[in-house]
Amino acid sequence: MEYTAKENRYTQIPYKRCGKSGLKLPAVSLGLWHNFGGSDEYKNSRKMLLHAFDNGITHFDLANNYGPPPGSAEETLGKVLKNELKGHRDELVISSKAGYYMWPGPYGDWGSRKYLISSLDQSLKRMKLQYVDIFYSHRPDPDTPLEETMGALHDIVKSGKAIYAGISNYSAEMTLQASEILQALGTPCLIHQPKYNMFERWVEGGLLDVLEKKGIGCIPFSPLAQGLLTDRYLNGIPKDSRIAGSSIFLGKNALTEDTIKKIKSLNDVAAARGQSLAQMALAWILKDSRITSVLIGSSKIKQIDDSLKAVQNTTFSAEEISSIDKILSKD
Ligand code: NDP
Repeated sequence: MEYTAKENRYTQIPYKRCGKSGLKLPAVSLGLWHNFGGSDEYKNSRKMLLHAFDNGITHFDLANNYGPPPGSAEETLGKVLKNELKGHRDELVISSKAGYYMWPGPYGDWGSRKYLISSLDQSLKRMKLQYVDIFYSHRPDPDTPLEETMGALHDIVKSGKAIYAGISNYSAEMTLQASEILQALGTPCLIHQPKYNMFERWVEGGLLDVLEKKGIGCIPFSPLAQGLLTDRYLNGIPKDSRIAGSSIFLGKNALTEDTIKKIKSLNDVAAARGQSLAQMALAWILKDSRITSVLIGSSKIKQIDDSLKAVQNTTFSAEEISSIDKILSKD
């Protein structure tokens, strides 16, 4: 059946300015790390992408290595862009990254100019695009001068193959250095993509301050701790969950007794707020004005619907904050 985008799609969620840039991002963005690869059911991936777009999610996040197999998530998006979303390219913010292992030999990993530029060329071919909206250095490279990695981002933007430059997984200190190098080159750092959720709060120790000072946006990844901060594991391990699947990034060992206890207590706080645990976990991140968007993953349409409702209540009372902090700090 032919796809027609929903007319009311821009009335569902707020769009927030990314740092001090001109670009606005949806408060909830969708990442294609899991569930969009060549080994996943294409029909479901396509359905989720279209459902997200129909509900105001204008930003899809990718990386060269998303799959499995690596590269196939970009191919999945490329197919949907060529078919159903044809005609909507200018309504979308599509990002990709390079920084982790992608191909054998010395030029398929980390942060050299050689790797970043050739990897983006490959990504564009897989997505059948002429440019991405945001191109990221996926992680800092201790052996490549930061000037080289940032210089490559700058040249990529100047070449027109990306509209903006971003960084991911950089410490507060390296973010400051990277943003100063980029600023001097004339390509401001648009955005930082760090891991941030109730269980992993390192960004609160300096990174968010640097981002605010430098006018850089922030889009936390794994805001639901890969599904732990949802109702998924309240009563065991569902067969269709990430833990039960073949992910090498989330295994049974993540579900310790302590974590299960915390999830259950957090679920009670969420219920008292009239939210699902996933909604509260996302709202808890969005309550900070320095956050531009939360970058969720999803395996089903109903999860996207549930998560999107987080934007309806991102205000927390002092009592709620303190009971959440107490639950999280318990040993
Ligand atoms: P999340 O923390 O949002 O976890 C997503 C998983 O949580 C889903 O696959 C699903 O698990 C479960 N879930 C999601 N919503 C709900 C809901 N409402 N109710 C119940 N369960 C739910 O994010 P990800 O870890 O998937 O990461 C998101 C994105 O961040 C990636 O796609 C990628 O774009 C980016 N990323 C970036 C990294 C970087 O280094 N820059 C690293 C990692 C991710 P299930 O599959 O079990 O159903």
